[in-house]
Amino acid sequence: MGDRWVAASSSSSIPVTDPATGQLIGSVPDLGEAETAESISAAVRAQRTWAARTAAERAAFLRRWYDLVMASKADLARIMTFEQGKPLKEAEGEIEYGASFILWFSEEARRLYGDLIPGHQPDKRILVARQPVGVVAAITPWNFPNAMITRKVAPALAAGCAIVLKPAIQTPFSAIALAILAERAGLPAGLFSVITGGAREIGAEMTSNPAVRKLTFTGSTEVGALLYAQCAPTIKKLGLELGGNAPLIVFDDADVDAAVDGTLVAKFRNNGQTCVCANRLYIQSGVYDHFAEALTKKITSLKTGNGFAEDVTFGPLIDNAAVEKVREHITDAIEHGARVLAGGKSHALGGLFFEPTVLTDVTSQMRVVHEETFGPLAPLIRFETEEEVIAAANDTEFGLASYVFTRDVARVFRVSEALEYGMVGVNTGAISTAEAPFGGIKMSGLGREGSRYGLDDFTELKYICLGGI
Ligand code: ADP
Repeated sequence: MGDRWVAASSSSSIPVTDPATGQLIGSVPDLGEAETAESISAAVRAQRTWAARTAAERAAFLRRWYDLVMASKADLARIMTFEQGKPLKEAEGEIEYGASFILWFSEEARRLYGDLIPGHQPDKRILVARQPVGVVAAITPWNFPNAMITRKVAPALAAGCAIVLKPAIQTPFSAIALAILAERAGLPAGLFSVITGGAREIGAEMTSNPAVRKLTFTGSTEVGALLYAQCAPTIKKLGLELGGNAPLIVFDDADVDAAVDGTLVAKFRNNGQTCVCANRLYIQSGVYDHFAEALTKKITSLKTGNGFAEDVTFGPLIDNAAVEKVREHITDAIEHGARVLAGGKSHALGGLFFEPTVLTDVTSQMRVVHEETFGPLAPLIRFETEEEVIAAANDTEFGLASYVFTRDVARVFRVSEALEYGMVGVNTGAISTAEAPFGGIKMSGLGREGSRYGLDDFTELKYICLGGI
């Protein structure tokens, strides 16, 4: 943090455990407002010099960081599986995905072009430059312990900002490892700090400190709304990636096998613990039974277990609260008439392992249709018409990801345009990539991450009116 490293001490440290075994992995320092303020001051000093460097120099640093992250892929993936639980292969995939943002923004760093706009008077010229917003504060979740960080830190550094990060307390080692690699890649001290500790205290300083000009947050809508309010008195720029309630729609004319494969990715990646995970599966009558059978067959053929074990697709959930939420949604659905096609209960392995679950006969009366489950539960809802399913899909306060499976090109356009979501996956369950703008509308957030638009969020426009020419 700031200009120095802080070691965890026995008097003030926070334990980090392996969700697969419940065993202690290590401890991190319990830091608070004072250390956050110190890091922000260091960021203010470092940012001025960083912004004055050439874009090529900033790009070169990012490129070195990317190379080191890729060279350390195996170690970073192991750290992630230890603290987060996802299968090692999936963790390796996330390291590559996370690194792709560093590479992308190392390239974009050199394309922060401005404008020369035709003037309103003969002796004037209008110049527009894009400047870094300054010091950025970031708060990230545990579900993608690497990629949610690189997606914020890389564009911030590319734009000429400094950044102070509070990672989720469940997964701090992935964040610290990234900071160590950034230091090895030659990043000057103070530009990228990682603060571990109490969320409320660190968040309070980040949001009230006037030197922080932008807050970028990924997490729940509830906490996002709180941080939004806390940032109001100092009018910070905000980037919010919040909750979702993604619909996945399969029409009668879809390739059902492809829809099942897409569902596996969209619903069950990271054991259902992503904000773009399909939460409600709307299947048209004509293919409903076929889809339900094929999905159930696929799900029951895949293995649950410790992320380090061979051939495991489903790891543990992150904590007891996560397990309870899945259980509550299943119980509520069954009470209202749903039937279990697969899973439905804690896994025989015990602990935080839960059976991947498929429910049929789900209706809009059930909680699972209105609340994000964030777990391995696929509720199947039958529908008849396109009009009906669009209305149902949009009947939520959220608007992050949505998915559609159909082979009718006209329908692809009609439905994609009608869905009130920031992102639509058509005939695919995998939509996230560094090249595309990731983000939601409504209560799912503000701003976009990744792509060239993702860099805009870390810049301000400066208008220079040049007179007397
Ligand atoms: P999740 O359910 O994914 O844990 P949260 O929104 O609770 O979602 O957490 C996302 C991030 O927000 C984590 O880093 C967490 O520590 C942080 N966080 C939670 N509450 C607060 C708060 N009051 N102020 C600042 N950060 C918070």
